[in-house]
Amino acid sequence: MIQSVKDIPRFGIKEDQYAYGVDAIHGYMSQGKIPDHWIKTTCGYCSVGCGMDVGVKDDRIVGGSGRPGSPGQSRPFCPKGLCEHVPMTSPLRAKEPLAEDSRGHLIPLS
Ligand code: SF4
Repeated sequence: MIQSVKDIPRFGIKEDQYAYGVDAIHGYMSQGKIPDHWIKTTCGYCSVGCGMDVGVKDDRIVGGSGRPGSPGQSRPFCPKGLCEHVPMTSPLRAKEPLAEDSRGHLIPLS
């Protein structure tokens, strides 16, 4: 008998990846994104400059959240601000100056 969606074959909810947890500062969030500590900064995506907290876990950025009470901060946090940390951890992120050669390939300048 099916008592939960988890009992339906191939209808897993991947709770190991998407389980919720409770962060002491920001409340409910994905368990995997609860950081070891938060770093106060500002979002640099647009000219509003909302205050934000960047979550760090095992020396890696795992998430961002609006800092409650900071100037310019709207609640909930804007989607661009929420995703600002994603390019920082992308394996495609440029880590040195690049220039495009005549064939359209990016080559390091240094
Ligand atoms: S959180 Fe949104 S509104 Fe605030 S600075 Fe970032 S992009 Fe601009």
